[in-house]
Amino acid sequence: MAATLVWLRRDLRLADQPALYAAAQRGLPVIPVFVHAPEEEAPWQPGAASNWWLHHSLSRMAETLAQHGSRLILRRGTSLGTLLDVARETGADAVFWNRLYEPAVIRRDQEIKKNLREAGLVATSFNAALLHEPWRIATGSGDPYKVFSPFWKTCRKAGIDCAPCPAPSALPAPDAGARTGRGWPRSEALDQLGLLPRVRWDQGLAGRWTPGEAGALERLRGFLEDSIHGYGKGRDLPGRDGTSRLSPHLHFGEISPRQIIWILREAGLDLDSGDTEHFVRELGWREFGHHLIYHFPQTTEEPLNPRFLGFPWRESEQDLRAWQQGRTGIPIADAGMRELWQTGWMHNRVRMIVASLLTKNLRLHWLHGARWFWDTLVDADLASNTLGWQWVAGSGADAAPYFRIFNPVLQGQRFDTDGAYVRRYVPELETIPAAQIHTPWQSDRKSRDYPDPLIDLKTSRAAALDAFATLH
Ligand code: FAD
Repeated sequence: MAATLVWLRRDLRLADQPALYAAAQRGLPVIPVFVHAPEEEAPWQPGAASNWWLHHSLSRMAETLAQHGSRLILRRGTSLGTLLDVARETGADAVFWNRLYEPAVIRRDQEIKKNLREAGLVATSFNAALLHEPWRIATGSGDPYKVFSPFWKTCRKAGIDCAPCPAPSALPAPDAGARTGRGWPRSEALDQLGLLPRVRWDQGLAGRWTPGEAGALERLRGFLEDSIHGYGKGRDLPGRDGTSRLSPHLHFGEISPRQIIWILREAGLDLDSGDTEHFVRELGWREFGHHLIYHFPQTTEEPLNPRFLGFPWRESEQDLRAWQQGRTGIPIADAGMRELWQTGWMHNRVRMIVASLLTKNLRLHWLHGARWFWDTLVDADLASNTLGWQWVAGSGADAAPYFRIFNPVLQGQRFDTDGAYVRRYVPELETIPAAQIHTPWQSDRKSRDYPDPLIDLKTSRAAALDAFATLH
């Protein structure tokens, strides 16, 4: 009896999972397979924090599938070779999966589709991750968008609230009624994938996050109860829990944007105005990142704006290390970098501040920052990370004008006025009064353990503007 392989990747959920749903609809046995082949995503193979998340997400997915009488088959090896092997072992005649949009992954998946078809298998892919796939949205002249507002307007016009597909009602097991009696193929143990760190730095993550589909839904519900009202203002205050923190769940496909929008609608929230519109627009930025990385795949390494190719970046291993370790002497930036290290996540406003400090005041290449984020963020996502870094560096689509350089002291005073965020992550500054928390060098209560600022904000700003002026 034939069967359908569902090649799971970053779509680790049962609901609104088109590949799994379509496989179940065939009425034949369904075999969910995850192939661990990180080298195929080079040079952006997942970093340490992503691997931590993946381990736990796969564990939850295996449990959920088991509750539905199914199994998660884990394998290491090349994706193509493994899929062909598992198809042969199980008699499967079809492989279904959901699409991803990073350049290396697209190349790999196209090759796999071609090879599977040549081997006589049905190979079909679906959209599970986006409201609109990148090739569906174009300007009037058929070009890709480089500016967010018209991009999002077109997405909204095309409709963003299409119904998610239901979870499959049954996932037939391979031996259910099979005359061949082939049964389940061999699976490796999750621990064999080696996703957890050898030196256990991950305690800070475990208490904060609940990877998996149930954890994603719970987080969305909590956000709807506590923070969506007031999101427009609350989202800028790093000391508060004012955002959804859904980003890692979205990245691993434990929840889809379609589901989020549907749930907002069902909760009676107005997608077109106020805080809800603002939140939905942020999901639009995620779509925009995918649009850009699909149409401009070189931007994962190169500036979208070629003017920046000649930018005179500095090199300083020492400054980069101080930035990474949260020891620049600029409190809000150091708090952000330590939040990242301790929790695998950083507040969006602070991401912008630390990125501006790195690329403008320290004038270190944005790729140094992008790579550090890549390794340490649980939500590391090539589309959003590339968009964020190029936006702040001034070289990307719809980028902040180069001359708009964040002043981290003013940003801190404005968005962390009482210093609660800084105190949470920089205990050396615990006793400094709010009035001086963002300028501790002016306080006689500054701990000796906390460094003086690595750079003078005024002169480094002027130097950055001079460097920018050399571009033609
Ligand atoms: P919410 O405010 O609750 O927003 C809901 C969702 O919208 C997010 O989960 C996310 O999927 C999406 N979203 C929100 N803001 C943005 C944005 N500016 N760009 C793209 N999508 C957005 N986001 C990542 O998911 N992965 C990254 O690797 C990443 N790197 C970044 C690097 C830099 C330098 C900057 C400035 C931003 C980066 N972002 C990245 C975007 C943003 O900071 C995070 O998506 C957001 O902080 C996640 O928190 P949240 O889920 O609470 O967001």
